[in-house]
Amino acid sequence: MKRFWHYALPLFLILVFAAFLVSPLSPAKKALTVPGKWPAYVMIDPGHGGYDPGVLSDGLREADLALSIGKELQKELADQMIPAVMTRSTDIDFAQPGLRGITAKRSDLARRVNMAFEQGATMYISLHANVSPLATRGGAEVFYPADLPEAKKLAEIIQKKLHALPGMTKRDAKAANYYLLRNQNIPALIIECGYLNISGDRSKLISPPYQRQLAQAIAEGVQEYLDSK
Ligand SMILES: [Zn+2]
Repeated sequence: MKRFWHYALPLFLILVFAAFLVSPLSPAKKALTVPGKWPAYVMIDPGHGGYDPGVLSDGLREADLALSIGKELQKELADQMIPAVMTRSTDIDFAQPGLRGITAKRSDLARRVNMAFEQGATMYISLHANVSPLATRGGAEVFYPADLPEAKKLAEIIQKKLHALPGMTKRDAKAANYYLLRNQNIPALIIECGYLNISGDRSKLISPPYQRQLAQAIAEGVQEYLDSK
């Protein structure tokens, strides 16, 4: 009998431990369960920051604009009970110290993608603004990775919501092969919120009420996408 317990007790403890690991109540699983009404956890990525200001236009920095819109988006999503985190909430970058140029940029982008993965994000929205001397019209534009149908669906819903903004130039959502998109396996988008060198877009983009409207449209798109699932 003593011999039985000699083996049975450790075996029992191993079974309890294994059950604990696979149980839906185990802490490991619970940590991945995100609070809120929807089964979504949005990683908001305000583009650029730190050493990289993004595009510049008459004293405007893309990095600052992306951050302002990102903060609004987090608030709008919170209002809809959709939990969201930001890759950055201050003017920082994620490049490994000592790197320069394209290597620094790649290291910065890789860190952003990894953050979404590590935190178990189910959706990734990177915010940007454009400058193009060739652009004759402005407008917000949503990009998605071509090989992710769910990303395309989310992109098209958000693009349609953006069309409803006052004075919005109606552009189409487009597939693109950007690093931030092709290295994700969750619906990932890059949203170019408008053109800083097109005066109509510029004056709207710098206005906090418009930034809020823009964020609201994106959040409504996220909600509609989740409702459709
Ligand atoms: Zn950008």
